[in-house]
Amino acid sequence: MLATPPTHSAFPSPAPSSSENPKAFAASDGARRRFGAYVHFPWCLAKCPYCDFVSFVAPEIDDEGYADAVIREVEVRAGGADAGRRGRLESVFFGGGTPSLWNARDLGRVLNAVRRGFGGSAADGLETTVECNPTSLDERRAAALVDVGVTRVSIGVQSLRDDRLRFLGRLHDARGAVAAVQAALRAGVGRVSGDLIFGLPGQSPEDARDEALELVGLGLSHVSCYQLTIESGTRFGELARRGRLPLADEGAVAEAFVAIDEALTGAGLRHYEVSNYARGGHEARHNLGYWRGDEYVGLGCAAYGFERVSSAAGQRSAEACQVAGHRWRNVVTPERYVEATRAPERERVAAIQEGLEPLDAETLMRERLMLGLRIAEGIDLDRAAQDLGVPGWTPARLRAATWLEERGRIVREGPILRVPRAAWLWTDDTAARLF
Ligand code: SF4
Repeated sequence: MLATPPTHSAFPSPAPSSSENPKAFAASDGARRRFGAYVHFPWCLAKCPYCDFVSFVAPEIDDEGYADAVIREVEVRAGGADAGRRGRLESVFFGGGTPSLWNARDLGRVLNAVRRGFGGSAADGLETTVECNPTSLDERRAAALVDVGVTRVSIGVQSLRDDRLRFLGRLHDARGAVAAVQAALRAGVGRVSGDLIFGLPGQSPEDARDEALELVGLGLSHVSCYQLTIESGTRFGELARRGRLPLADEGAVAEAFVAIDEALTGAGLRHYEVSNYARGGHEARHNLGYWRGDEYVGLGCAAYGFERVSSAAGQRSAEACQVAGHRWRNVVTPERYVEATRAPERERVAAIQEGLEPLDAETLMRERLMLGLRIAEGIDLDRAAQDLGVPGWTPARLRAATWLEERGRIVREGPILRVPRAAWLWTDDTAARLF
């Protein structure tokens, strides 16, 4: 499913000792910043042929045992830090896998532990999202999620055409997708989002437009539209390698993107990120945090977390003021993860993490560019430079910006750099040229 944190391929450092990696998720420079919490639930009913997310198919899921394990992790990641140093919890995102398979009572126990540990509450407007599949979301389950504090669901509709759902290996049909969306709305979930996949072989721009319109016509306030990508290590990847997977050509994919854009913006949604549309105020705050470079605590097996640290732990020389950070990843397999959470408190973080990647300020600046250019608001380069303590407008970046501007690939408004919607398809390349 979607909305994972930005991925990275290598973790060169060995697992940290608990002294290298303080157990508390705390901003060490004392600033009160926003952050989100991501909780990974790793199981699905079946593996989709295009999926390269960490998900497992298991005959039985120990809902209670996995919730207990995540709560043990919360205890050590949240414990000890004073709330003022930690920042403000903006959002909690249950992703997967298929977290709508998780017993709502156990998901609620985890949510309570996160709120207790990190200080967020519904009264503070905490956004709490659960990714759902139509096969595991009916009105009763949606109401149970609302009861435990969930404010937003993101439903993996993917298509409203049975033949495309079969091609994607999904377990639901179009009728099931519609029923799940309607159930969530009837149950009173405050905000309901639906995912669509486009760029499928044989899909005309008119088809793409019609599906998007039908989906938003169900009453959704947020739609995510993702291009089908073929990843190595997946069943589609293997079929493509052998030349046995029909694929849409690039021109057709671009036409579908434009058709969806026209349909959804025409229906009153704002295209606020390359793949995301929302009615005013219904943007996904959790994902906006990723795109803006906010910190996030990752909980559960295979989850990534990111925390900012001041270099040299508080030594304030000119260089030491450059803010850097760490990204960690938890052990991937659920069994090893659950076992690791049973380690004594002092050793638990080191047991749970299998990698800690140090990030210098220049790396964070490149990530800010890559992610910030994905959103309509763009990136304030002066502010990012000040925040990270590195130069923003280097001579090379100025030259690249001029080159891109002349070609209509970026717009410069004072310190703000943004990609115009007409050039969003090339956002990754645009960002890379600004590195
Ligand atoms: S339901 Fe989502 S996470 Fe699970 S296999 Fe399919 S795409 Fe992957």
